[in-house]
Amino acid sequence: MLYKDLVRVYEALESTSSRLEMTDILAELFRSTDCAHIRRIVYLTKGILVPEFCPEKLGLADRLYLRTLAMATGASEAEIRDLWAREGDPGIVTEKILKSKRQMTLFPTPLTLDRVYESLLNIARAEGSGSQEVKMRMLADLLHDSTSSEARYLARIATGRMRLGVAAQTILDSLAQAFATKEDKSAVERAFNVTSDLGLVGEVLCSEGLEGLGQLHVVVGNPLRAMLAERLTSPEEILERMNGRAMFEYKYDGLRIQAHIKDDTVTLYSRRLEDLTTGFPDVVESLKKAFQGKSGIVEGECVPVDVNTGEILPFQEVSHRRGRKHGITTAIEEYPVRVHLFDCLYLDGKDLTMYSLPDRRTALTRCIEVSEDVRLSEARVLDNVDDIEKFFTEALAAGCEGLMAKSIDDDSAYRAGARGYQWIKYKREYRSEMNDTVDLAIVGAFHGRGRRGGLYGALLMATYNPENDRFETACKLGSGFDDATLAELPDRLDHSRLPHAHSLVNSKMDADVWFEPSIVLEVLGAELSLSPIHTCAFGKIREDAGLAIRFPRFTGTFRDDKGPRDATTSQELLSMYEAQRKT
Ligand code: ATP
Repeated sequence: MLYKDLVRVYEALESTSSRLEMTDILAELFRSTDCAHIRRIVYLTKGILVPEFCPEKLGLADRLYLRTLAMATGASEAEIRDLWAREGDPGIVTEKILKSKRQMTLFPTPLTLDRVYESLLNIARAEGSGSQEVKMRMLADLLHDSTSSEARYLARIATGRMRLGVAAQTILDSLAQAFATKEDKSAVERAFNVTSDLGLVGEVLCSEGLEGLGQLHVVVGNPLRAMLAERLTSPEEILERMNGRAMFEYKYDGLRIQAHIKDDTVTLYSRRLEDLTTGFPDVVESLKKAFQGKSGIVEGECVPVDVNTGEILPFQEVSHRRGRKHGITTAIEEYPVRVHLFDCLYLDGKDLTMYSLPDRRTALTRCIEVSEDVRLSEARVLDNVDDIEKFFTEALAAGCEGLMAKSIDDDSAYRAGARGYQWIKYKREYRSEMNDTVDLAIVGAFHGRGRRGGLYGALLMATYNPENDRFETACKLGSGFDDATLAELPDRLDHSRLPHAHSLVNSKMDADVWFEPSIVLEVLGAELSLSPIHTCAFGKIREDAGLAIRFPRFTGTFRDDKGPRDATTSQELLSMYEAQRKT
């Protein structure tokens, strides 16, 4: 196949914004193409060379492309830069430059689809010293032999700007239109959702029809498109949707990961199917240890944790770990993470996606040996509003966003790539943001671990309740301390150390060390939430819960001007909670 025939189709696609028309144009192209070429056409049309989860990526830096174009055409870099500034699109720039330098390309060798594809793949794969020159030379060769309209698309794909406006769904629709019937659309979609490889789906559908498509299964190493959730705002609505009963799980706020494990190799994919493996060697190691099968695909949420308090930290902390190529060891120490697994999609040769959720959960429980760093999602089958609310409060107190409700019906298969009511997210509605600092009394402490070994890792902080003259706990505080402050804390505190909780301290938590309330710290939190484990204003909002400060941070200010009974009162925290809830 000649590349110019594909370019003609691109021009037709660019001249319409109607999805139906695009589908017709592509279906016609697929029907008239040799099956051996379908895969490459599909990739190139999407502006890629291999499925998105594979490492080969195009996207030459603009500066390099500019030099390449100069090399291929003899135009000056300044001339190209001027035109680029005016046009903004390297495709148009390339087309215009080629037209004006026509004598350079008088006798080009016609470009074939295979040559274009293979050259681009070699460009994407070239690495190491001297690879920039190699990439430029290979691309310059292609440009040299291309017509001006071919060059427009070569420039765009090489610089990662293909943007024909053709969505994956449009390609799936046109493949179904070309090789099957409308009724078979869902089979085509499923094949894509379990393989995440549009090119493969096209090739198999063209050469082996629907039967061949039915043979496409989940494969370790090919990420599946993630199953997604709908949203509802009350437990009543959720129960109604779920026929009165569902599995409720903590909804962790972190990074979704799909782990593919085989022969002692673990590959981690993001929700967008990017390969995250190199940034998370600690997760790879702990998953290797935890996984007891031969091969499998498990899914979970990777959350940042404070190793001292064991508490889950704000999501942003884990984002420091993403996409890192350097400083990974330091990042692992600075931003430690833990994984909470919630699904098992494949185990020891068996595709489990068609199994019900309870069966998949059983498989997950069997193949994972839970550890400090690899845990399962907290999960409970519930059938009434009170229990759901209670579990929801617990989830918030544990630093989660709320709950995920999941169908446990017989047809609760893993619907890769689909958003539906089989999974429903129920996020915190009791959330209120804190925009003022509070002053809390130190009533206890927890021994530090890791970098904080030998020091206090976190402090137990309390409000004061003047109504009953009690100190009521509101958070575990581990953030915001610099090394010097941490080092001086034992000196500051140990004179008030006690063998048990002070009689005026009301705590459900068991601190490692107790103090007579004396020192007051200024603390800023992200928000206030209900919590069954903190005693501040316990029972005031809900019978079984107190108030907790989420993501508390020491501002650096010791309120030496305040005695412990001058600390923020439990009543103040309660009115902050209520006021902020209204807003
Ligand atoms: P969406 O994923 O629905 O497009 P989003 O990216 O904003 O929206 P959320 O609204 O946070 O995500 O809800 C879904 C996400 O919740 C999942 O993609 C997953 O990353 C996360 N999650 C946390 N805990 C669980 C759990 N127990 N089960 C499933 N997903 C969970």
